[in-house]
Amino acid sequence: MAKPNSISNVQIATKCPMCDFKFSKDDIKTIDSREGAATFFLNCSKCKSSVMMVIMASALGITSISMVSDLAERDLGKIEETCVEYDDVLEMHKFLKNK
Ligand SMILES: [Zn+2]
Repeated sequence: MAKPNSISNVQIATKCPMCDFKFSKDDIKTIDSREGAATFFLNCSKCKSSVMMVIMASALGITSISMVSDLAERDLGKIEETCVEYDDVLEMHKFLKNK
């Protein structure tokens, strides 16, 4: 399912923030992908951490944010309904600005 011009073609540093386990392609699920931003859900098969990763492309380059999530994969449907991930991105943006 290769989409040309999609941000998912960007080489992502996909290491588990908890145990440094290198994710394989099969561990990465795309939740949302649009022009300039993509959200991925990663499931570490080593330490069982769930990681939410947001990749944003801007004039400044590619920004990637990883968040350890306690969401199970089965909750992904809920995320889409409530747009929680969008609020998370905004919160993270504020957090980074205040740093
Ligand atoms: Zn891990």
